[in-house]
Amino acid sequence: MQIPSRPDLETRAVHAGREDLRTLGVHALPLDLSSTYPFTDLDRATASLDALVSGDATAENPVYARLLNPTVARFENALADLEGAEAAVAYSSGMAALTAVLLAAKMEGKNHVVATRPIYGTTDHLLSCDLLGVETTWVSPEAVGDAIRPDTALVMTETPTNPTLALVDIESVVRQAAGVPVLVDSTFATPVLQRPLAHGAAMVMHSATKYLGGHGDVVAGVVACGEAWARKLRQVRVATGALLHPLGGYLLHRGLQTLPVRIERAQTTASDLARRLSAHPDVQRVYFPGLDGNAHLLGTQMDGPGTMVAFEVAGHEMASGVLRSVQLMTPAVSLGSVDTLIQHPAGLTHRVVGEAGRAQGGVSEGLLRVSVGLESADALWADLEGALASAARLAPSGAVLAE
Ligand SMILES: *Cc1c(COP(=O)(O)O)cnc(C)c1O
Repeated sequence: MQIPSRPDLETRAVHAGREDLRTLGVHALPLDLSSTYPFTDLDRATASLDALVSGDATAENPVYARLLNPTVARFENALADLEGAEAAVAYSSGMAALTAVLLAAKMEGKNHVVATRPIYGTTDHLLSCDLLGVETTWVSPEAVGDAIRPDTALVMTETPTNPTLALVDIESVVRQAAGVPVLVDSTFATPVLQRPLAHGAAMVMHSATKYLGGHGDVVAGVVACGEAWARKLRQVRVATGALLHPLGGYLLHRGLQTLPVRIERAQTTASDLARRLSAHPDVQRVYFPGLDGNAHLLGTQMDGPGTMVAFEVAGHEMASGVLRSVQLMTPAVSLGSVDTLIQHPAGLTHRVVGEAGRAQGGVSEGLLRVSVGLESADALWADLEGALASAARLAPSGAVLAE
């Protein structure tokens, strides 16, 4: 007998977490907004509560919305499917997801973290400040092994890195971690282009605010992992209450259906823009996976270069001139929406990292980061080329002075 093969990711993205809809007789996802759930039998309600509080994913009765929400659980199952994970646990933001991972990692009584730079600005901040009682050693991806200690609870990395789009070799980090669990922030890659668990990571996290939602109207985070970690992560969620609202779960689940198409289309446009930027006289450097460094990971770890492009102009004045001059692109932080966003990491997303940290991470005053959307490549290039020309006119010498 022929064993049916696992459907491809495009197909799973459309159908995952919806397996029972036909039986239910509905086509759209049920949206359950209940904050509490009536019970008929006290002892069975108590058994449900005990199960959920100790980290079970399901129970006969959700009891209370902080313990379980069926709409959010559907999204979690779908995302776990796309990541090739046993489970996923969703939170009210990407930072809430990271906070939960750090608290779960600390459950064993260890509080040392090894993390690689550059990394998302607020991640850098959360790991560097005292707030959660973790002590972080910052290293380059090649030096993870030297920083591991007996009390190391977690190794954290991000690939592609934000904002310089360098690729970190996940398998090398896992090897160096020597048994310490590795968390990969895969927000920029999405499960369409990269599945870190297949390379030995214990957990993969996303700011679901970005590509998973894809329309700039949800703030959320999610961690995909094995069931043992998921139990701890659910316990943290029950205790701290950093819940994803069911409407957010609904929108993210819907977003997953178009994720592969959105990524594929934006990636083609991003490659085109990266090529054109590389040839522009006012652009000093282009950051795009595969252009330099770790190109061997394209096709092995990451299925394509992705949809983010960063580039360097002469300095702060010139960068600010570009942001003032773009008409089609929206000057705004965040990424992963259907429309193209452009921002200045040194002034915004990586402000909190501080000057020394920015220098270590290669975040210069002339760096601009573009999240490529679904507009046509020609329209986006016309906008960017026009903005570069206006910026050069606005601040030809200021650019030099600002350095
Ligand atoms: C946005 C982002 C985060 C934080 O997620 P929020 O949803 O904003 O809390 C973490 N990591 C990366 C790579 C991000 O882009």
